Amino acid sequence: MSEKFMLGKSTPGKPARGLDKLILAANSARQSAHAPYSDHPVGAAVLSSSGNIYSGCNIENAAYPLGMCAEAMAIANMVMAEKSDARIDAIVISGPGKHLCSPCGGCRQRIREFADVETAIYVCDVEGNMMLETDLNELLPHSFGPENLKN
Ligand SMILES: [Zn+2]
Repeated sequence: MSEKFMLGKSTPGKPARGLDKLILAANSARQSAHAPYSDHPVGAAVLSSSGNIYSGCNIENAAYPLGMCAEAMAIANMVMAEKSDARIDAIVISGPGKHLCSPCGGCRQRIREFADVETAIYVCDVEGNMMLETDLNELLPHSFGPENLKN
């Protein structure tokens, strides 16, 4: 799923205009989640640097380790559409309740692959209220990214 969404890069404290569209996309994606085991449906939406929105939801599996996070699906959709040089300008994660649903450790690394450490990461509650506005400097300090493999 993709929708053209022309915005600038969003950083914490300086949200991109139209952030509400990204929140709506994440909330909408959460409705498609397959989470019968955890009963913890999650949605995510990324804004690519090309101005497109890609969303995803978590898809659980009876063989638990095979489950996929919402962020992973949103990033996969972005890369499928825009190829591997795609970049994330902002990402919203939409949790199922009033508790903080921040990205898991694996997804922090997945985001890191396609985002700068200053790129805004927003976490919203089930009603779309902003709960956390952060970045990878906070969520994944001293991170390992693609540039660490360069000489
Ligand atoms: Zn995850």
